Amino acid sequence: MEQRFHTGSIVLAERMSRLGTESAFDVLVRARALEAQGRSVVHLEIGEPDFDTPAHIVEAGVDALRSGQTHYTPAAGVPELRQAIAEYVGRTRGVACEAERVVVTPGGKPIMFFTILALVGPGDEVIYPDPGFPIYESVIKFAGATPVPLPLREENDFGFDVAELESLVTERTRLVIVNSPHNPTGGIIDAAALAGLARLAVEHDFLVLSDEIYTRMVYQGSAPSVIGLPGMLERTIILDGFSKTYAMTGWRLGYGVMPPGLAEQVTRLVINCNSCTPGFSQLAAVAALTGPQDEVETMVAEFHRRRDAIVNGLNEIPGITCRTPAGAFYVFPNITGLGRSSDEIANILLNQAGVSLLAGTAFGRNGEGYLRLSYANSLANIEEALDRIARTVEGLL
Ligand code: PLP
Repeated sequence: MEQRFHTGSIVLAERMSRLGTESAFDVLVRARALEAQGRSVVHLEIGEPDFDTPAHIVEAGVDALRSGQTHYTPAAGVPELRQAIAEYVGRTRGVACEAERVVVTPGGKPIMFFTILALVGPGDEVIYPDPGFPIYESVIKFAGATPVPLPLREENDFGFDVAELESLVTERTRLVIVNSPHNPTGGIIDAAALAGLARLAVEHDFLVLSDEIYTRMVYQGSAPSVIGLPGMLERTIILDGFSKTYAMTGWRLGYGVMPPGLAEQVTRLVINCNSCTPGFSQLAAVAALTGPQDEVETMVAEFHRRRDAIVNGLNEIPGITCRTPAGAFYVFPNITGLGRSSDEIANILLNQAGVSLLAGTAFGRNGEGYLRLSYANSLANIEEALDRIARTVEGLL
């Protein structure tokens, strides 16, 4: 008989058994429960800037609400925002980008969901980074396709090896997902690896979903996009958005840039799912893209300082080693010297030290032996967390 998936007495559709989750939200709930008992917890688990949305962006949103932007909007996004995004992406990625390539969504995450659902199903293979953002694998499985993990290794600065990628490509490979700068490691894919990816995409006729949500958070060098390489404009879907760059997580605003035919299909998914993205958020986003960028620069400079502090602090703790990541706002220290699993260490640090962070395994099997810490928190809190970790870890060795 067919195995059914239950929640209490309710029988769920089989596909729900294939859907994963993002454990950062579960860990946050556990950390908040400890705080409710009066415990002090330093939050290094959640990936969101601790800055406020710049005031001129908030004003644009408020003005939009006051002027009646409280109705449905076109499903693919308001024309002024699609145009502003097309110009921004064209300028920053060095490609000719028309507004018809842009689909605006409530956050960047729906672009993952919609493009994977639109492109793959049973019998198709999708290559994705491991460690990597857990929603990739979750949605690939939900769509009925086969997830194929591409290992990212510390000795390779958490970039991928082109020969290894090539060895994973089959005639069933429809999509390869890359993420640079990378969550959870902060790694950046270098130009040589991107060139290898583009060559394979053209040779084997697959598409690339390039998650570039952290593209403005780079502290050394740059994070080039695959979309500018020969043959890739028609094979690449860029995922980007406003959550991280402009500290706008709660506005729910992101977008995809993709070939126009695919944009039409993704727009059909938008219509079936959420109809459209709120108009006032979209007009705030126009102000974000076209207005002053100095607050973004200030925020990135502050993340840079924190990155250096957290990397130095972690490397001083016996049993822990940490590479210096080039981008995003995460570090991915190696904790194999502590002789316990990532999960055990993450639990000990939450329950004994009051430091909330994630086990590397929350990002895939290749995350064993690592932790992920977000440094989107004040320097003072980072120093406090480092002290607590050092004291607790000392007792384990
Ligand atoms: N991609 C990656 C790698 C992320 O880490 C996140 C958020 O944590 C997102 C996409 C989606 O962000 P949002 O839906 O807030 O735009």
